[in-house]
Amino acid sequence: MAQIGQVLVDVPTMQTNDPYSYAIPAELEQQVQLGMRVTVPFGRGHRVVSGVVVGLSDGTNFDGQLKPIASVLDLAPVLNEELRQLADWLADQTYAFRITCIQTMLPNLLKAQTAREIKPTTELSPAEMAQYFPDGAPREFDTSKLDDKTMAGLLRLQRAGKVEVTYQVTSKATAKTVTGILPAQSIDELKAHQDAVVKRAPKQAKLLAYLQTLSPTTPVAQSRVSHDTGVSAAVITAAEAKGWLVKQPIEVYRDPFQRPVTPTAPLTLNTAQQTAVTAITQAIDEQQSQNFLVEGVTGSGKTEVYLQSIAVALDQGRTALMLVPEIALTPQMVNRVKARFGHRVAVLHSGLSKGEQYDEWRRIDRGEATVVVGARSAVFAPVKNLGIIIMDEEHESSYKQDENPRYHARDVALWRGRYHHCPVVLGSATPSLETRARASKGLYTRLLLAKRVNDHPLPTVHVVDMREALKQQGESDFSEPLLTAIQARLDRHEQVVLMLNRRGYSSFVMCRDCGFVLKCPNCDISLTLHMDTHTMKCHYCGHEEAIPHVCPNCHSRKIRYYGTGTQKVEQALQQLVPTARILRMDVDSTRRKGAHEKILRQFGQHEADILLGTQMIAKGLDFPDVTLVGVLNADTALGLPDFRASERTFQLLTQVSGRAGRADKPGEVYIQTFNPDHYAIELAKDQDYERFFVTEMHMRHQGNYPPYYFAVQVTASHEDEATAAKAMYQIVAAVKKGLSANAIVLGPTPKAIARVKRKYYYQVVIKYKHEPQLKSVLEQIRQAAQIPARHGLSVTIDPEPMNFM
Ligand code: ADP
Ligand code: ZN
Ligand code: ZN
Repeated sequence: MAQIGQVLVDVPTMQTNDPYSYAIPAELEQQVQLGMRVTVPFGRGHRVVSGVVVGLSDGTNFDGQLKPIASVLDLAPVLNEELRQLADWLADQTYAFRITCIQTMLPNLLKAQTAREIKPTTELSPAEMAQYFPDGAPREFDTSKLDDKTMAGLLRLQRAGKVEVTYQVTSKATAKTVTGILPAQSIDELKAHQDAVVKRAPKQAKLLAYLQTLSPTTPVAQSRVSHDTGVSAAVITAAEAKGWLVKQPIEVYRDPFQRPVTPTAPLTLNTAQQTAVTAITQAIDEQQSQNFLVEGVTGSGKTEVYLQSIAVALDQGRTALMLVPEIALTPQMVNRVKARFGHRVAVLHSGLSKGEQYDEWRRIDRGEATVVVGARSAVFAPVKNLGIIIMDEEHESSYKQDENPRYHARDVALWRGRYHHCPVVLGSATPSLETRARASKGLYTRLLLAKRVNDHPLPTVHVVDMREALKQQGESDFSEPLLTAIQARLDRHEQVVLMLNRRGYSSFVMCRDCGFVLKCPNCDISLTLHMDTHTMKCHYCGHEEAIPHVCPNCHSRKIRYYGTGTQKVEQALQQLVPTARILRMDVDSTRRKGAHEKILRQFGQHEADILLGTQMIAKGLDFPDVTLVGVLNADTALGLPDFRASERTFQLLTQVSGRAGRADKPGEVYIQTFNPDHYAIELAKDQDYERFFVTEMHMRHQGNYPPYYFAVQVTASHEDEATAAKAMYQIVAAVKKGLSANAIVLGPTPKAIARVKRKYYYQVVIKYKHEPQLKSVLEQIRQAAQIPARHGLSVTIDPEPMNFM
């Protein structure tokens, strides 16, 4: 009998990958299971901390004194066998702690201390109901307050599916309400008022007649009342003042994707799509963990391939996981999946409240939802019996988490594909170089969708040389050719998408006489001009100050902003094309929940002619009347100190170009650039991914970059610059000792943004091909960093960093 539990404790300041042994007291013996969360006393002060049971063993050979497990937090394990194994693998791959990995895998609600409730399901018999729920209501689930007999009984009922534990979301702010209306007088009284005002005030009479039809206890939304009667809010408010009605808030359920969707049937596939689906189907049938790269130009019907492959897995009684970048997790995309698979679909994304997230997680865990759609962390969804995993836009950098554990969702997906013996399908119009290179080596089966559906042509792309435009027109964000093209669309009532690339680029203030740039005193990065608040703001730490009118360095008055913000471009555009209706989509205009969706809906309904936005508009939009796409500043991403700058630029330009001409009308694209001869721009013009791949691979080879080399980045940070630097020199010395002469060590160097949130960062990047010692060296560095961590030094290890900045 198991008497000892191995528990991974959650103590952030003293983390370890080794579990601690705890005695399982007799009264908990029936309850403790692998993968459950428990509380245990920890350290000399016997502080109670939470942890996860990762091992159970027989205590007969143990003769020491063990502290006992204090309580059990779950009735059923929250981590199944697969996810426990995955956590171990993840910890090993990412140099993170096992408990950190486990926390990452669980829904947020299970991480917080939330009140728990136990409640009956419909399976519970009346006798059991009377015994366990004497009040007939759910009861608090606090294991420390329940006696052993009740606990054992509840456990039995839980295994039989007769009761369940739920988590209460304590934040009341999550409930959304609208104004409701209740009649405040009897029908006779209301009728009398109606008769009295019917000549003099017909609107009031109408409202009074309507009130007589309403229930005095169930409020009706005011918007409904207005709609049904045609009376204004003012009339309703006046009626309230007269005492005819009262207003009362109505709680409404608020799932952004709850709108009814019209079901769709599978489309008849074209030859390329059919070839892809057939190959994937075979892998599902044969339960092979074969991996695919679906390389398909924008509008080639990749999504239909995904949907029909998912259907194959479901037909076999298996499940499906579909990952999309957060930014592409638009209602448009989710609706396409729901329209095909209906209530079987669960959606996981950061826009859900903790409660909603947990509900979806539970539906998946219980097998009620068999298709999971979600962003990066959905790769940990507790789906069982997977038949297929799909990762759309696999090149997206948002699939890599940039905090611990620094995992790439693609690697996790491939691991789960091996575990479940199911295919993993990576899809993109512009695959990452790593993925495309692996396909060349035969590690992935490459499936090509070379043409758009229904022979729609790819858009025609023009590159506009802004150096020439500047000479001819003076300074402007809009070249003549682009403006002419916009005007033509307005004349034809077609739509335009304009992208202002803001990545690595901000509206900073610069002196035109001495070049002085206003920077954040804490972070060493340029402050950004905000026209709405008329201040300069730091995007890293939030520091804010007034806009300078005189250069602090040379006292010149020619200190002005440099670069452009979306608001400023919108103003300029409105002056150039006064009749155009413009919608702006950027971080500021989409901050409110649902704002993103609303802008897209307005644009889809032709309430605007032009959608002007940052790179967030580059993905996934499918609007048939968009026939022109303009890129205002293609160069900004090229200038980043990042070896993937060309790749990112090519991907972005291809993606955004793909928004044009998706239906019957041909599309056109204008790319404005100061670097018209750069290969990333030239090849994006031709939309020639294969040639870009070959060219870029050559550059990577020359520079000893991935995918030719692996890379690891180690960063040390501290408030005191010397401490951070010294730690990094020690790390570099330790690393070098363990490496062969073939490894390349870059650094130590201060980070490009050396000081963030009052800390100094030093880094080293190690590039290597085959270094069997590296892993254990890094492991030691991590362990050694545990002790100084208490003094404010933190060391992070990032395998395959997204950039070296
Ligand atoms: P991608 O994801 O490759 O950019 P989509 O899947 O969005 O392309 O497909 C582009 C458009 O073509 C969509 O409107 C889709 O409904 C349509 N489509 C896809 N496959 C077919 C098909 N076999 N027959 C007709 N229309 C299709
Ligand atoms: Zn100056
Ligand atoms: Zn700052």
